[in-house]
Amino acid sequence: MDAPRLSVVAPCYNEEAGLGEFVRRMIAACEAIAPGDYEILLVNDGSRDATWPCIRAQAATHGNIVGLNLARNHGHQLAVTAGMARARGARVLIIDTDLQDPPELLEALMRRMDEGFDVVYGRRRSRSAENPLKLATAWLYYRLLSGLAEVEIPRDTGDFRLISRRILDRLNAMPEQDRFLRGMVAWLGGAQTELLYDREPRFAGRTGYSFGKMLGLAAAGLTSFSTVPLRLAGLMAAAGALAACGLAVYVMVGFLTGRAAPGWTSLALIMIFFSTMQLACLGILGAYVGRIFQQVKGRPLYMIDEIVSSASVAGVAPATTDTQAAALGR
Ligand code: UDP
Ligand code: MG
Repeated sequence: MDAPRLSVVAPCYNEEAGLGEFVRRMIAACEAIAPGDYEILLVNDGSRDATWPCIRAQAATHGNIVGLNLARNHGHQLAVTAGMARARGARVLIIDTDLQDPPELLEALMRRMDEGFDVVYGRRRSRSAENPLKLATAWLYYRLLSGLAEVEIPRDTGDFRLISRRILDRLNAMPEQDRFLRGMVAWLGGAQTELLYDREPRFAGRTGYSFGKMLGLAAAGLTSFSTVPLRLAGLMAAAGALAACGLAVYVMVGFLTGRAAPGWTSLALIMIFFSTMQLACLGILGAYVGRIFQQVKGRPLYMIDEIVSSASVAGVAPATTDTQAAALGR
């Protein structure tokens, strides 16, 4: 079977109320841009309601719909990951099923990609009807992340985006467990651009992102894309050592001027010495743990976008992942 022009990956968690409407609008958007030449992957992420029977019914009625049922709730990022692993299309759209990201934007996303982009991500111009606490924490988090992360992760974006097959193959080859997809896509490079859009209110149902899940995602983003928190331990060790030197001088002066109680000087010096040593050891451990962490993430060392030589003047776009991962035989 030939690969379709477009795959749509849509994670679903307790979406029975809105799924029919999502499918109707998504199919209309796909038909307008790639008639018959698309697949819509609906990934049921361990829903507790009738989402899976709804998906089964949709897949039985529409030839372009594929349903995937995860064995339990794995969370949004892994549901998208599972869908992407099975997407066959030349381009892949990642979209929420609650209609907060309008399916009708597909055409604009496709047109931007035609201009030569690998990734076109939706950037939220406005987020109507979201609670102020969520807006404030999101605002703060994205600014903190962009200050600390090793790559520029676009602010105010979710996972709503259109990505090329080339980027998808690279993404699928990244074995890391803790997946913060928007960061991983940014990390992969290539030509990326944004499309501003207005985030709609939820069509039906309730958010599946509990506070705990959101904290988990936030932590995954920070720890997967920054070793600053680990290096912080090292910095604190250095600052602690400096303070310890000052303290030691103070203790010695106390001893020499006879103001110290008997036994206090030796006790204080022992404590200062060993606590400084401990901090220093923590700093050293942090440096090694950081490197182990980078290594076990198993990311490719680099990605080549294009290779040109006199034999191929037009330039050779790599067919799939010509990443270091491929070279390492992973
Ligand atoms: N979702 C999922 N698994 C989860 C939570 C959410 O697959 O554990 C899906 C959900 O069905 C929706 C998308 O991920 O399509 C975004 O979730 P939600 O709308 O609940 O998050 P919010 O938009 O409130 O941040
Ligand atoms: Mg939502």
